[in-house]
Amino acid sequence: MTMPTGLKLVLFGPPGAGKGTQAQLLKERLGVEHVSSGDLFRHHLSNGTELGELARGYMNRGALVPDAITIGMVIDRIGQIADADGFMLDGFPRNTGQAQALESALHERGQQIDRVIHIRVADDELIRRLSNRYICRVCQRPYTRDAATGAPPEGCADCPDGGDIYQRDDDTSEAVANRIAVYHQETAPVLDFYAARGLLANVPGEGAVATVNESVLRALEGNADEVFP
Ligand SMILES: [Zn+2]
Repeated sequence: MTMPTGLKLVLFGPPGAGKGTQAQLLKERLGVEHVSSGDLFRHHLSNGTELGELARGYMNRGALVPDAITIGMVIDRIGQIADADGFMLDGFPRNTGQAQALESALHERGQQIDRVIHIRVADDELIRRLSNRYICRVCQRPYTRDAATGAPPEGCADCPDGGDIYQRDDDTSEAVANRIAVYHQETAPVLDFYAARGLLANVPGEGAVATVNESVLRALEGNADEVFP
C-alpha cells in the first residue's frame, strides 16, 4: 500500500500495549520524525538549554513542570521539521490544554494533525502482560510465568540452592492496574478532544506485532475513524 507522506500524527497507547515497537515500525515505514516528549526532556536537561534549566528548577523543588515548558519544547522541535517530512508525537499531548496549544501552534504554521492513533488493549490483557515479570533474588536472572500453569518457577535454575524467585513491587498486578488506571484518567479527555475532530482511530492492539502494524497503517488511510471508531 502507498502511504501518504509528511503525515502529522499523535500516538497513544497504555503501558504494555507495544507502543514503542509500533512507533519504531511507523518511523521506518513513513519516514516521519519520532518526537518523544521523554527524549526532548532528556535533551534539554543534558544540554542545559533555557527550557531545560527552567524545567530543572521545578524538578529540583519536586514540583510539576508547567505545561508551558513542555509545550515550548515540543513546538520548538516541530518547528525544525520540514513540512514534507512529517512527525509522530509520543508522550504529548497529555492533557487538553497541551492539545489546544499544539493545535494553535500548528494552525499558525498552516498545519494540522492528520491522525491520532490509539493502540487499544483490554486492561486484563495489559495486566497479564505487565505482571508477568519475575526475578531471581540471588543472581537477578529474569523469569516469566509458566505458560501452561500460570505460575512462576519455584527456584532459580542457575543458582545452586535454587534462588528465591520474586516479583518487584512495580510489577505486581496491583501496581500495574494502578498505572493503567492513571493512564486512562489522563488520556480519556485528550482522546475525546481528538474524537470530536474526527481524528481518532482506536486500533486493536491485541494481535501479533505485524498484525497490529497493518491495522495502524490502515488507520492512516481514508476515514480511519470510521474503520476503527
Ligand atoms: Zn539465580
